[in-house]
Amino acid sequence: MSLSFKKSQAAYEEAKKVIPGGVNSPVRAFKAVGNHPVFIQSGQGAHVTDIDGNELIDYICSWGPLIFGHNDKAVQEAVLSAVQNGTTFGMPTEIETTMAAKIIELIPSIEKVRMVSSGTEATMSALRLARGYTGREKIVKCGGCYHGHADHLLIQAGSGAMTFGVPSSPGVPENIAKETLTATYNDIASFKQLFEAYKDQIAAVIIEPIPGNMGLILPDQGFLEDLRTLTEANGTLLIFDEVISGFRASLGGAQKRFNIMPDLTCLGKIIGGGLPVGAFGGKAEVMDHLAPFGEVYQAGTLSGNPLAMTAGYTTLCELQKRDPYTQLEEKGKQLKEGLEEAAQKHGVPVSINHLGSLLTVFFTDQPVHSYADAQTSSTEAYRIFFESLLAEGIHLPPSQFECWFISTAHQDSDIEATLKAADHAFKAVAEAGQ
Ligand SMILES: *Cc1c(COP(=O)(O)O)cnc(C)c1O
Repeated sequence: MSLSFKKSQAAYEEAKKVIPGGVNSPVRAFKAVGNHPVFIQSGQGAHVTDIDGNELIDYICSWGPLIFGHNDKAVQEAVLSAVQNGTTFGMPTEIETTMAAKIIELIPSIEKVRMVSSGTEATMSALRLARGYTGREKIVKCGGCYHGHADHLLIQAGSGAMTFGVPSSPGVPENIAKETLTATYNDIASFKQLFEAYKDQIAAVIIEPIPGNMGLILPDQGFLEDLRTLTEANGTLLIFDEVISGFRASLGGAQKRFNIMPDLTCLGKIIGGGLPVGAFGGKAEVMDHLAPFGEVYQAGTLSGNPLAMTAGYTTLCELQKRDPYTQLEEKGKQLKEGLEEAAQKHGVPVSINHLGSLLTVFFTDQPVHSYADAQTSSTEAYRIFFESLLAEGIHLPPSQFECWFISTAHQDSDIEATLKAADHAFKAVAEAGQ
């Protein structure tokens, strides 16, 4: 089987005339896999239908939000019902309070929460709050972690930046970049050095507790605990960016799964149920420094938008009701084991990281615990693998350094079809001498 994507190719040519690079977010452009993107017509469950009429098994799931797959009935019905009342008011609605209470119920460390419209806004706002609260200016992030595209966070930012070979971006002023210090994920000594060198100057450490933007990396035993102890001892706020891990690592995020309480948490993706939403929350004592009663300014015309709140709230309630985590973990494991077997059969070295419904196949012969380990992967092997799978109707993320997202809608038959195509794809990688 080899699918044709002629209409997508033509649509991409048209898009490039009016949209920079033809896309509204860089990784969608397939630049890292040397091809043109697939244009989507519709989605249902674990499948998307593209404009050429191909039905593809989707492991992007909108980069994480769609934990129930596309067009989930409960979410769709709730949004259709909410839209009858109007789409936005810029005045308070009760669904915002209901949503906040649900987040507080689910995420252990959050006592108060403010809604925004993207993950980028959540991390940007959390850092301003941390700086305003501590009166300090420097922040620490890890190389390879992505926290959205705000200036001070676009430093060694993984994913897009990694595959595009741009460590930071033109347009980020040096004066801002120099306030961002970088440490190494899973290496507590690298944090200790920064705390010694910049004593009493570090407002916050922001980290993906389970990084998903250099491919999936898991925390080594004790690493997050040590980071909690270190930040607390230095009067520095610990910010967990759970935009991916929230409601995916567990219903209470990575913090619940590993039982480590950050001071602030950033959320996004799943929390919007497929609409544009982000949130940041934490201790009431810190959150109360926000305007209007506090002095740290933060705002948004569409923040807490009733349609987005409805989609998000319905998703969180459905997660509670359906409790899909054991089932998702099992599906992920099935996929990982099947992929490992297929790779081994064709003598292709891979290292597969998996947690719950997240998975990355690194084309390297060493275990991947860090950004440096991830960078030993063969992006050429990934490109061949990706292309071979797409030709058979399996849509992976178009970059080595991303997570595959599994949803509750992925059936055994989808996983079987994926493994069958992967067998051919690993063979193609082996034949290319990768
Ligand atoms: C996607 C992502 C963001 C940014 O969220 P946007 O909604 O794309 O702005 C921030 N942090 C992490 C960990 C993410 O994966």
